[in-house]
Amino acid sequence: MINVIREPLIFEISSPGKTAIKLPELDVPEKSDLLAEVPLRADIEGFPEVSETEVTRHFTRLSQMNYCVDFGFYPLGSCTMKYNPKINEKIAGMDCYTNVHPLASEKLTQGNLELMKILENLLGEITGLDAVSLQPAAGAHGELTGMMLIRAHHLNNGHPRKYVLIPDSAHGTNPSSAHICGYQVKEIKSNERGTISLEDLEKEMTEEVAALMVTNPNTLGVFESDICQIADLVHAKGGLVYMDGANLNALAGITRPGDMKVDVMHLNLHKTFSTPHGGGGPGSGPVAVKKILEPYLPVPVIEEKEGKYFFNYNRPKSIGKVKSFYGQFLVMLKALSYILALGPEGLREMAEVAVLNSNYLRRSLDSLYHLKYDSPTLHECVFSDKYQQEFGVSNLDISKRLLDYGLHPPTMSFPLIVHGALMIEPTETESRRDLDLFIGAMKAIDREARENPELLKAAPHITYVRRLDEVQAARHPVLRWEEKK
Ligand SMILES: *Cc1c(COP(=O)(O)O)cnc(C)c1O
Repeated sequence: MINVIREPLIFEISSPGKTAIKLPELDVPEKSDLLAEVPLRADIEGFPEVSETEVTRHFTRLSQMNYCVDFGFYPLGSCTMKYNPKINEKIAGMDCYTNVHPLASEKLTQGNLELMKILENLLGEITGLDAVSLQPAAGAHGELTGMMLIRAHHLNNGHPRKYVLIPDSAHGTNPSSAHICGYQVKEIKSNERGTISLEDLEKEMTEEVAALMVTNPNTLGVFESDICQIADLVHAKGGLVYMDGANLNALAGITRPGDMKVDVMHLNLHKTFSTPHGGGGPGSGPVAVKKILEPYLPVPVIEEKEGKYFFNYNRPKSIGKVKSFYGQFLVMLKALSYILALGPEGLREMAEVAVLNSNYLRRSLDSLYHLKYDSPTLHECVFSDKYQQEFGVSNLDISKRLLDYGLHPPTMSFPLIVHGALMIEPTETESRRDLDLFIGAMKAIDREARENPELLKAAPHITYVRRLDEVQAARHPVLRWEEKK
């Protein structure tokens, strides 16, 4: 990391008359009305005037203030921040895809429809479910769509029901999605293994419960090994099982939610399948369902008849549209290209190495960092700051210090059932060398916590900005540069 203390605002570099381009003198008669028809913006007062060197350096430096997976290890738990092959971006960026208008006729877009259908079929195979909608734009959006399908199913049977059961280890979006869909959320307690307590579930499961929403593997990285028994309990009372499949990176190619009696789930293409999560671009959260929920899927549904693909809008039981047009086509392309490149064995290896890497980290650090739940974990593991707290050092201090080691911190203070949580998901794309770098830094930080806790409490020391007042930043954000003066 370059130790630049402060990059000025581009307005502060500006000096009047400076320009990035210099053209030769005009040697033909000037015509001033060429742009008469074009609505031109008036001059902007105070617009920065800088040279090409200045503008290039300014934005290059700004870009280096950010951390990215192309730079290093990014162990943000539950986010699957893995390296995504550039070839998939390249394919999604091809003119033949980016230049297609979403209103182009079916006749002209047969190839695109076919690709979407192939992806639907592959996701159906990977999840073990019967039908897929590619429409939702994110994980949480997929959850909402799935909840709407469940509601439509119960309404069709005469009564939407009242409650959705959600374990205390669930991802935070789960209760929101159920709530937005009009359900009341009831929490199910975790047992000492960090999985769903069957006794608690049995107690809460009534004929007023529309569904159980379960993240599997859950946010502790622990596989719900009783999932079939859990599903039987829910089904016995007419409820449905929703699986949050955002963590499919741990399961793909090894086991299938459909075989675990799950009725509906979403996947995050922008985690597992080659689009970065939180990259500022669009995501995609397809929903996969069992046959019983298929009639309710969002319109349009892609169908094929005599070798021709078309959008079917004539679906009387459909919940309607959940997204403009057909979803995020370019994200689907990246996923398709990734899945086809890996093939079934490759997908399985992806999940196996993700699990192996996480367990390597866990075993390498479990003598120094506290594990509240010591159950076998899959793709991620959740430590806490309990041992370092003895020296007054918190998970925040540890995370901030990691920045000084040139590493991205893990997810912090989540899941809520682990106090002072440090949730680490290394993913399969990290080499042994990169994992060891992280392990080395975590060991050094533990030593620092004992010997020099003040050093950690003031970290980070070598970043562009030091420890921020996060409360102040949230309560009084300064979003305009003028206000700073
Ligand atoms: C990331 C994640 C989500 C939400 O996905 P978004 O695309 O960010 O809305 C839901 N559940 C789990 C378990 C996740 O990890």
